Amino acid sequence: MKVAVFNTKRYERPVLEKAAEGSLIVFNFLEPRLDAQTAALAAGHEGVLIFVNDLADRAVLEKLSAGGTRFLATRSAGFNQIDREAAREFGVSLAYVPAYSPNAVAEFTIGLILTLGRHIHEGHNRVRRADFNLEGLCGFELRDMTVGVCGTGRIGTEVVKLLSGFGCKILAYDDEPNETVTLLASYVDTREELFRYSDILTLHVPLQPSTFHLIDQTALGMMKDGVFLINTSRGALLDTPAVVEALKSRKVGFLAIDVYEEEASLFFEDHSSDIISDDTFARLLTFPNVIVTGHQAFLTQHALRNIAETTVQSLQEFASGMPCTYAVPAP
Ligand code: NAD
Repeated sequence: MKVAVFNTKRYERPVLEKAAEGSLIVFNFLEPRLDAQTAALAAGHEGVLIFVNDLADRAVLEKLSAGGTRFLATRSAGFNQIDREAAREFGVSLAYVPAYSPNAVAEFTIGLILTLGRHIHEGHNRVRRADFNLEGLCGFELRDMTVGVCGTGRIGTEVVKLLSGFGCKILAYDDEPNETVTLLASYVDTREELFRYSDILTLHVPLQPSTFHLIDQTALGMMKDGVFLINTSRGALLDTPAVVEALKSRKVGFLAIDVYEEEASLFFEDHSSDIISDDTFARLLTFPNVIVTGHQAFLTQHALRNIAETTVQSLQEFASGMPCTYAVPAP
């Protein structure tokens, strides 16, 4: 089975090849992102693999289907970049990797809270230039905080488990509460309550129409002054210009993001010699109380191995006509 792998990075090629050893899968590793222009590169490939910032909308799926693609898998837990309805119409089966390592993202989330809350990044920078002054580095202790976890699926649940070791008060909100979280946190009845009572608010809901710009001016208005926001889920959960205004007015005291609404044209590539034309993103980088990472929360050896093994399993199931264990849920 010939499989075009879009948007491949050096760190994942050997892991995918190892997972496919001894199988009939032949990978064609491609550097470009999948979009309407690059879809032609997949012609003659029955399988296509994509990642978070590839685009599998109706136009792209139509082109892939015309070129002979019958199976498309995203090497990610989120699948908001795929038009599932169009895939069904064009006869392209879909797979994803629902739980390659919730721990990877959960641990990174805690890392962001501790880094920003204790100014570890700033302390590191100062010491590197022989500045041992501690002025401005006073932090907070998690045991004094109320942490709100929005979305207690796989990742949110791991975040709650990790937080429970710090002695903080944990509030949670999810449309479908789960038992593990009930033992460690207090569910609130509405999202608004979570916004209102949290000192730290971390987002773990998927991006979908009901969560687009979940954190907008109205939501920010409900929050405590100086709230600490963390988004390791999807960029468009935040109305970023509204958050920038809230940082300027100090409504938001800290912001840590691993994802950004317009990240597709920036993340996963080296733009250090380019002029950044996205003024909102550039403004974010000027705040001392903001940390931005480039969608790296997932990136652990454990996660890469699981992504590769799950994806190869899905390809093999498709090739042998078996039902796909990790099929993307129907729209
Ligand atoms: P999941 O499907 O296990 O959990 C999502 C939870 O959100 C579910 O419990 C669901 O009931 C809840 N939910 C959905 N809509 C809601 C709403 N409107 N209000 C409240 N709760 C709602 O997903 P997961 O594996 O925990 O992943 C969460 C998200 O994390 C993914 O969708 C993906 O976008 C993101 N993610 C980011 C990275 C990264 O590297 N930064 C890596 C993996 C996943």
